[in-house]
Amino acid sequence: MPEWYRRRGPVAVLTGAGISTDSGIPDFRGPQGTWTANPIAELTSTYQDYVADPKLRERSWIARRDNPAWGAEPNAGHRALVDLERSGRSVRILTQNIDRLHQKAGSTPRKVLELHGNMFEVECVGCAARSTMREALDRVAAGEPDPACRACGGILKSATIMFGQALDPEVLGAAAAAAQVCEVFLAVGSSLQVHPAAGLCEVAAESGADLVIVNNEPTPYDDLATEVIREPISRALPRIVALLTEA
Ligand code: ZN
Repeated sequence: MPEWYRRRGPVAVLTGAGISTDSGIPDFRGPQGTWTANPIAELTSTYQDYVADPKLRERSWIARRDNPAWGAEPNAGHRALVDLERSGRSVRILTQNIDRLHQKAGSTPRKVLELHGNMFEVECVGCAARSTMREALDRVAAGEPDPACRACGGILKSATIMFGQALDPEVLGAAAAAAQVCEVFLAVGSSLQVHPAAGLCEVAAESGADLVIVNNEPTPYDDLATEVIREPISRALPRIVALLTEA
């Protein structure tokens, strides 16, 4: 078996919050994490509570307005994955992030699968109509603390997957297919504790891919990995991409 970085087949990259911390977006479970600093943030992520409690929704709109991700810029980790795609390799990015920094960096949008949705759109829980977060936040700023769907009057939420909600089966199916066909599966900046996204590591390894984990903390899949890398992500990914693309 050659070294994993000498394999020339498709690469799938699962990315979690850790790839965006260098862009100024706090992760969830780390010492500076959103949930650690502000337990209410985790509560607002629970679908059942959100739908049941108008006060919670009002707080959620404020939290969305103040999200540090709005002004965030991609970092060297995101850009390295753009370089990998531009090298001609088949690349799929399966991201747990809702910040769209992969697309902002230049990754081809249809090659980025947003497992947990995105924060730039809102969705009605009644009729599933989509509109922009910008429009919803403009309504909040204009004095509607909990704007309702213009089509049906239903509750609006960000187009993200909250706790208690299933992932989009089409997105998950496409991610599983990418995990099955890849030769190298990079799991980057994810604690690999949230399923079913984390289970994609197992799908890839069972299908014969080399699993390479880049994360500063141990994960439940480290034993399954060909290599575990503890280096900071914005340094590790450019190095890994150089290895994968060298002649
Ligand atoms: Zn509606």
